[in-house]
Amino acid sequence: MTVRSISILGATGSIGSSTLDLLRREPDRWRVVALTAHTSALELARLAREFRAELAVIADEARLPDLREALAGSGIAAAAGAGALVEAAARPADLVIAAIVGCAGLAPTMAAIAQGRTVGLANKEALVSAGEVMTAAVARSGATLLPVDSEHNAIFQCLAGNEPAHVRWITLTASGGPFRDWTAEQLAAATPAQAVKHPNWDMGAKISVDSATMFNKGLELIEAWHLFPVGLERLRIIVHPQSIIHSMVEYRDGSTLAQLGPSDMRVPIASVLAWPQRMDTPCAPLDLAAIGELTFRAPDEERFPATRLCREAAQAGGAMPAVLNAANEVAAAGFLAGQIGVTRIAAYVEDVLSCYAPAAPGSLDDVVAVDAEARLRARALMESA
Ligand code: NDP
Repeated sequence: MTVRSISILGATGSIGSSTLDLLRREPDRWRVVALTAHTSALELARLAREFRAELAVIADEARLPDLREALAGSGIAAAAGAGALVEAAARPADLVIAAIVGCAGLAPTMAAIAQGRTVGLANKEALVSAGEVMTAAVARSGATLLPVDSEHNAIFQCLAGNEPAHVRWITLTASGGPFRDWTAEQLAAATPAQAVKHPNWDMGAKISVDSATMFNKGLELIEAWHLFPVGLERLRIIVHPQSIIHSMVEYRDGSTLAQLGPSDMRVPIASVLAWPQRMDTPCAPLDLAAIGELTFRAPDEERFPATRLCREAAQAGGAMPAVLNAANEVAAAGFLAGQIGVTRIAAYVEDVLSCYAPAAPGSLDDVVAVDAEARLRARALMESA
């Protein structure tokens, strides 16, 4: 049996935990190089000990003493800060799982790409923000991006063995989130606790809010645009409340290929871990007779303008997707902190997008600068309201 080495950026999060759950079932197949977290030092140390990682990195430098103490005597190296995250990502490993949430994951993801690694990409915000800067880095280094996001993983599977030139449509499915059937009045009163209670998926707080606002689907549209070179006009979104079909590719001959599976991220993660092979997962087989019906409807961009904003930002190109992502991160955090209502998130993003248009970024530093300025503008708008 070949032993493969792996690093997991964002090991303490929802995607990180699901990945580690799969590794736990095949411990002899994996050698864990680096695990990282933001503030969860004790959980990180626990995981590093369990998986005998070489290195544990905590982004928040103030937590380094806790991490060191919790790892004392283990022989596992501990480090902290943004530079240490980048170094962890760049360490030799057969596979790097990029599962930090938000643009905070950009620099480490780019570091793994620069080394030509195979990267399992969950951190969609990094690709949305960096766009061509990241795809150019992939082309330069020969890195391989394997999509972890269930929709993109589905599309990746449906495209296998086919030419992008033969694609008529790529259809991303969306559950519609917890507020799918809510009226505009109900939406105005929605709470963070209601937003993070997703009907089908168990995810981190930020992506749950994005799912509730449909920004998640809009970000995924931009992500798909970068991952699959068929053109923005061939990408569309359909609401599919059961989350059984994870996305579809329709070809010019009228054939549509779809990938189906349970709403469990361990399925797409397993596909990335085993690629180009397959591995077992503990997920229950799909019982379509019990599910009974698969239904579909068009997205409602009146109640959920996020998908329109994301499409427009992609059409505008340049720095606009990075501006959109940064404004959404700030506004989503503002909603989670109880500062603004959920419907204000799209309104703030639209305001930030309409008030300035920075030059297209040509490097990672440019993207980081655009991101920082857009955050300042979004915060200033929220504070002045
Ligand atoms: P979580 O919030 O559950 O976990 C985020 C992880 O990133 C944690 O390990 C966290 O550490 C770490 N982290 C957070 N902020 C920083 C920071 N500033 N610097 C360094 N590390 C940080 O998120 P998810 O697992 O839900 O999502 C991760 C990514 O995967 C997101 O981009 C999301 O869009 C994407 N994704 C998630 C899916 C899901 O089902 N959850 C599905 C598809 C995509 P700590 O624990 O210390 O805070």
